[in-house]
Amino acid sequence: MNVTFWNKEVETMSRGGIEQLQVSRMQQRIADALKTPFYQHRLARAGISSPQQFRSLSDMQKLPFAAKDDLRQNYPTGLLAVAMEQVVRIHSSSGTTGIPTVIYLAQEDLNAWTDLLARSIVATGCTRKDVFQNMMSYGLFTGGLGLHYGAERVGMTVIPVGGGNTQRQIQLMKNFKTTVLHITPSYLLHIHSRLNEFKTRPQDLHLKKAFLGAEPYSENTRLKLEELYGIDAYNSYGLSEMNGPGVAFECVYKQDMHLWEDAYILEIIDPATGQPLPDGEKGEVVLTNLVRSAMPLFRYRTRDLAFVHPEPCPCGRTHRRLSRIQGRTDDMLIVNGVNVFPSQIEEVIMSIPEVGTNYMIHLARVGSLDKLTVKVEIYSKMFTGELNALDALKNRIRDRLRALITINPSIELHEPGALPVFEGKAKRVVDEREKL
Ligand code: ADP
Ligand code: ZN
Repeated sequence: MNVTFWNKEVETMSRGGIEQLQVSRMQQRIADALKTPFYQHRLARAGISSPQQFRSLSDMQKLPFAAKDDLRQNYPTGLLAVAMEQVVRIHSSSGTTGIPTVIYLAQEDLNAWTDLLARSIVATGCTRKDVFQNMMSYGLFTGGLGLHYGAERVGMTVIPVGGGNTQRQIQLMKNFKTTVLHITPSYLLHIHSRLNEFKTRPQDLHLKKAFLGAEPYSENTRLKLEELYGIDAYNSYGLSEMNGPGVAFECVYKQDMHLWEDAYILEIIDPATGQPLPDGEKGEVVLTNLVRSAMPLFRYRTRDLAFVHPEPCPCGRTHRRLSRIQGRTDDMLIVNGVNVFPSQIEEVIMSIPEVGTNYMIHLARVGSLDKLTVKVEIYSKMFTGELNALDALKNRIRDRLRALITINPSIELHEPGALPVFEGKAKRVVDEREKL
């Protein structure tokens, strides 16, 4: 395996070196935080009035957690630590409730973030010779601009097309011989189902790699996409509160994501008690940004569930690896009293070869019972066969799901193109139970 580095010294730093850097950067961030209305008050309550009071990483425990609601309630400037004229970039997300959150970056913060993305891109083996088609939305969403800056810093040829318009995406891939994509897994699945329409086969494209992120997806979805396109797909994790992508990224070994610990402090906690969990145990990811001066944010509760790999990666990077996101504390479905994560359902259906590139999960209440329906698109060749074969497939999908989630779902088989299409983050769960 050919391992290349963007900044070998930092990426292979000793644990002691990383921890020392984390402590000194935390002191800087506490100094910034003491300038914000939000943290002045909060840190005082935690008994912290100067950066020197933060002496070792165990002092993290003294700091309060932060949550999305803190950002909303302090919109727009409650967490701003510098004069507005120092700010060179604003990102904002409206979230589901419509109350916005905002992220501020000073020039040095933008440089540091861009550097993390360049590092992530190089870790996947990309070079300046690659042609990079960025199919994530631009604008206030961090996915587009984040990778864009990183790819330019590496010197790749960047096509800043953004999301949507499948025909143009395919055209661009062909005309410029795109080698690397940045895209949501759901949109990459969808594009495959449209290639035929534009008289294109995957082997007519020049794709080698894809960076997949912004939404949860299973290992089987990755494997499926790798096979459909003949590419290597790398998992990419980030969230706007931590700037966006570039928090954790897979290296060429594709065995989960190096979380850049010189820039972020990672904790895994028990979501119910807030207590720290040891490496290897699954819990809620909690993150602190160490390289953002304009807007400090400590111990942010992401609601994402994952675990940390205790063992080192063969690539030689010392930054610990974060597992694939296993779900969110708020996306668990309770179906007739049984806990089900949408990710479990995806893992099963994407392992069945006849299943195509799209699916939906539907919940309804029938009488006093919940009804779970899984709608899957299957390849059109299946519909030309016998009805018996369709029934057998339905039963097979149902049995496999029942074995894992212990409830008995209804299965609907659909033709390609029948289910809703997502060009950005997918919304695959429709829960109509609350309406009743
Ligand atoms: P919003 O919170 O409005 O959806 P973000 O872009 O900040 O906007 O979304 C970040 C969230 O997206 C993460 O907290 C996580 O739940 C999800 N996410 C991002 N990347 C991945 C990934 N590689 N795997 C699973 N989930 C991801
Ligand atoms: Zn590695």
